[in-house]
Formats: sequence, C-alpha cells, structure tokens
Amino acid sequence: MSQTHVNSICPFCGVGCGMCLVVQDGTINAVKPISAHPISQGKLCAKGWNTPFGINKHNRITQPLMKKNGLFETVTWQKALSYIAKNLNTFISESGSSTVGIISSARATNEDNYAAQKFARAVLKTNNVDHCARICHSPSVVGLKQTVGSGAMTNSIDDVSKADVILVIGADSTENHAIIGGHIMRAKLRGAKLIVIDPRQTRLAQIADLHLQLKIGSNIALLNGLLNIIFQHNWQNGDFLARRCEGVDALKEHVANYSLEKVVKLTGVEGQKLVEAAKLYSQANAAFLAYGMGITQFISGTNNVIAVSNLALVCGQIGREGTGINPLRGQNNVQGACDMGSLPNVYPDYQSVADEKVRAKFSCAWRTNVPKAPGLTSLGMSNQARNGNFRGLIIFGEDPVVTDPDRNQVELGMRAMDMLVVVELFMTETAKMADVILPAASFAEKQGTFTNCERRVQLIHKAIEPPGEAKVDWQILCALAKAMGAGNLMNWQSSEQVFDEMAQLTNSFSGMNYAHLAERNGLQWPCNAEHPMGTRWLHTNVFPIGKGKLIAVDQVSSDEQPNAEYPFWFTTTRLHYHYGCGSMTRQSPLLERETPNGMLFIHPQDAVDLGLKNHQAVTVSSRRGYLETRIVLSDQLVPGLLSMPYHFKEAPSNLLTNDAMDPTTEMPELKVCAVRLVPLPDN
Ligand code: SF4
Repeated sequence: MSQTHVNSICPFCGVGCGMCLVVQDGTINAVKPISAHPISQGKLCAKGWNTPFGINKHNRITQPLMKKNGLFETVTWQKALSYIAKNLNTFISESGSSTVGIISSARATNEDNYAAQKFARAVLKTNNVDHCARICHSPSVVGLKQTVGSGAMTNSIDDVSKADVILVIGADSTENHAIIGGHIMRAKLRGAKLIVIDPRQTRLAQIADLHLQLKIGSNIALLNGLLNIIFQHNWQNGDFLARRCEGVDALKEHVANYSLEKVVKLTGVEGQKLVEAAKLYSQANAAFLAYGMGITQFISGTNNVIAVSNLALVCGQIGREGTGINPLRGQNNVQGACDMGSLPNVYPDYQSVADEKVRAKFSCAWRTNVPKAPGLTSLGMSNQARNGNFRGLIIFGEDPVVTDPDRNQVELGMRAMDMLVVVELFMTETAKMADVILPAASFAEKQGTFTNCERRVQLIHKAIEPPGEAKVDWQILCALAKAMGAGNLMNWQSSEQVFDEMAQLTNSFSGMNYAHLAERNGLQWPCNAEHPMGTRWLHTNVFPIGKGKLIAVDQVSSDEQPNAEYPFWFTTTRLHYHYGCGSMTRQSPLLERETPNGMLFIHPQDAVDLGLKNHQAVTVSSRRGYLETRIVLSDQLVPGLLSMPYHFKEAPSNLLTNDAMDPTTEMPELKVCAVRLVPLPDN
C-alpha cells in the first residue's frame, strides 16, 4: 500500500521537535524526524519516536458517552450537546456565570485554546478559564512580567550553542526536553561550562562542571547568596545596570544579608562552589540560564522566578545571543495556551481582563459584552465546588485527578459539581468521573498551530481522519455555543479562520498567518509590523516595561517541614520515558517496558537505616493520603530526601503532595512535602 508523509510537530514536550507522520491505510504507522527542522535537526527523543502509540485507535474514545446509573452509555452528539447546553444555561440563570468554567488544554492547538477562552468569556460570560500552566509555569508568566515585561523564554533554543556558560536550575533536560539536553551536551563538548543547581544529582548534574546540590526549597537563599558574592567582588555588569535596570541599590543592600556563611548553612552548598559559580556566570561573555519546575512549584514560586531574573539582570546576561532567562515550558503547547489567554486574568497576548479598553476591544470584536470580574484558577474552581459554589466544568485534554496536588481533595471537588464534562482521547482517571465524555481529535487528526517554549508558532497538518465520531476541540465549542443559543458568535469554518481572528486582536501575532508560518518553518513572537520575520531575542534594546526591575525577595521555608511523624522530605519528578499523566506515553509497550511502574527513589543509606532492600514494597503517607509502591535505591538523592515520578495512576504521587499555594499565582507546592515510609511484608 502507498504511504503518505505529513509534516507535523511532536505532541509531547515544549521543545517542539519537527516530525513527519507516515500514513498508511488511514493510520499513523511511523514517525520520522525532520532533518531541516531548526530545533530538532533530524532528532527525536524516545517519546517522540513512540508518538503513533499515543494516538492509536484501539482504545480511543470514539463516541459521546453519558453516565446513566453509574455506567457510561453511547449517545448522539446532539443528545450530549443538548444536555450540556441545557445544564450550563440553567446553572448560569440560577447561580450566575461564576459557577461554570473551562479547563483548556496545553496539549491542544492555539486555535482550540483561543476558542476555549472565547467560549468562556463570550458565551458563558465568565473569566473562569485556566489550564495546566497553573501548576507548571504560572510563576514564570507573572514573575517575569514584573521584572522584564514578558513571561516567556527570552532567547532561542539554538542560543545554547552560542553560550560559553550554561546555568540550569531545577530542571533535568536529559529526562524532559531531551533534545535541549542534547544541545547542552554538545555545547559542553565544544568547551562551554555547565553549572547545575538541583537538590538531586541528576544525569545533567553528573556531567556538570559545577553541581550546587542545594537543600530542597532553598533557591532564593542560594540565588541571593550568588548575587551578594557578585556585588562583593564587583562582578556585576555596571554598564548594563546603569542603562537598563532600576532598583540596583536596594537589591544590593538586601542581598548583603545573605553572607557566604549564612548561605552555606541555608543551602548546604560549599562556599567555594558558590564563589566559583558566581564568577563563572557573571564573567561569561554569554551565559544561557534555563530553569524548570524546581524553581516554580513552590509557595514562593513567583519570588523564586524573580530571584532568577535578578541574577540575569545584575550580570547583564540578557538581550544578547547566547544569554537570556529561559523557562523550559513543559507541555507541547503550554506556551501557546498562555499566549491565547486560557488564563483567568488575561485575553490573548496577555491583554489584561482588568483593563477597560481591552474589554471594550474584545466586546466590540466579538459583538457581545464580556465579563469584568476576574476568573477562578483551575484549583480555585475545584475549591469552590467543594464549598458548594461551583456547578459545571468542561475539561479539555487534562487529567487533574492524576496531575493536581492532593488527589483526594481534587476528587471531592469533581464529585461536588452538578456536571463534569471531559473532552478526551482516552478514558483517563478524570474522564471516569465525568457525567459526559466527548471524543476528541488528536494532533494528527487536525490542522492548527503549536507554540514551543522558544515562542515559535509552528503549523501542524491533518494526516488522518479522527476515529469514529471524534471532533476537533474548537469545532465542539462552536457546536456547543450554538446549542446554548449563542447564534453565530463562534462560527469558524476552518482553523485558519480561528487563527486569523486571533491575529487581528493581538499585537504579538499580528504579522502571522498560515502561509507565512509555512514559508518560515514557524515564526517566533512577537511577529508584527516592527518584527515581520519574528523575534529570536527579546529585550535587545529595551524592556516592554522600560527598565528591567530588580526586586528584593527573601527565602521562605516550605509550607511543610519533616517532623517525628513524617520524617522525610518528598519531591516529585519526571522520567524520560513518560509524559504527564501518561495517558499517551503509557499506550506504548516500548516506553512501558522501560519504566512500567510508579516507584519511590530513596538514598541507599536511608534504605539501610530502615532495613529495606531494593524493590521492597512500602507504604508512603503524608498528612493528606497514602499509597503503596516499591523502592528503588538511588544515589542521585541525599539521605532524608525521597522522590517519585508523577506519571503513574497506580501509584499517584499526588495522593501525597501539598496544595499549599504561592499567594500570587495559586501555584501549589508540588515540589516538596513531608512523608513517612513504612515497609510492607515482602512477597
Ligand atoms: Fe518530542 Fe520533546 Fe522529545 Fe522533542 S524533546 S521529541 S518535542 S518529547
């Protein structure tokens, strides 16, 4: 049989590697890397190579399902949409628009996300729209907006190859973002110095020139300590500070409180290593700084991001090739979902819902009034439901029962709603709790765009038909808007029309259209009259907020500390072979073969102290829940610290995690809590 080849983008992480889908008999039976792709350059990681398994047909949801007497039965689209529309209209008329909302998807296209936030604002009349950036990089969006005016990666992935120092904080880009991990390894081979700041001796840390193995959660102490050393040695970039920043004196005075002796005590890192790292980073010609959720997933997440930004600004390591503040965004389109305004406080392109002019602009464009009240975050909707104040939620392509903190409370919130609708490819743990499940089209079954972590908007093309009656998210939303009586408010005929509407209402995307994206292998925003070919480096001459803001922040303790009852620190991690809740990667027998189970990593010394053998079964308990799993000895950890990947529904680490929140962004403290470990009898 003949094969066709369709170019697309990997549906897993935010690197956005180019892949060619090989289609035979209406099925994707292989993928091939694209050698001309500007980032992946003919490479894919293990997840990318296994993409066909993640969208296979045999266990996809292919028809609308409604729950009756606790069991799902197939129904027509018309019946499902009428039921959802009737309920949403009832909830709004009885209890107000604040009791309904949408969780959109960082796995869906920009067009799907634009439609989701428009549906929330123009049809439901609420700003209750959010997505999983809440639990990954919401502190980056807010923190960097304050300091440099834009919450995205300032530079391009290829800049790794131009840097002479690479500083990675709280991320292991050999596990996730593996193609960036490869860029870093190649940079190191050509002589770049690598500094890793991480409480675990990750694979990246093992090849680093300097590994600062800090105590978990002591990021601000360490970063302020580095700044103090830099000021003491006069290693700051005085010219850059004078021209481009404000708040230098106050910051210098503040970080003087972080003496070397104090920082060594707070972080557990040797003083000599701190001085070496400060010198290497500040004196580099070009230093590329990247960070991940080891910075953001704390109650101090926003301040952690600000501390990172302070370091880059003081050293002038921004606005040039090979430099920058570069948050490594997780999901394939989490950057795009934020850009499209699937957030409760901003419209597309981060236009504030609090700004009257912005509201007037969208009201005029959409020919309907839009709501003024700020919306709820995803966790806020769940909390309100537990309090009896939230009635109807539609979730697109996310599995918060597995991925959100304190699973028992998340489940209580979902159960408390009058109607839960899940739009999904597979029967996830969250889908099992739904009243209605709608079958969604995968990335290979639709056209649209994804935006990777370096702000590159890239086209994906439809390669195969969706299975059964599955539909594209934006088409589902158009049909639902009609069923709710919204007329032609959402009446697009193609994803291109959705994109064009979005581009007309934004500045950063105003120079983009599908033809331009196709010509250029994608374009990095802002792409507009000023930057018609897109923008590789942000902030080259000026910050969008004028001068860069240096803001003094202080170290705070984690919400929970180990004690006699819960004596271990516990942290969550990711593995190379799986992605998110595992609903796609765990369809692959090859990836399952590599890491088939959830597991708890423990330092060998702790195992000896507790009399545990490798792979022994244990129970792990926190103040919120417990689970059973098996241990794996790992000298990546320090004694007293346990870690667990969160991909596995059979051993869901989020039964244990803490939902204490960063007050600015409601980011939960997923990276640290306290647990107890009890051996189970061997069998
Ligand atoms: Fe896909 Fe990310 Fe792997 Fe690239 S690095 S192949 S985008 S999962």
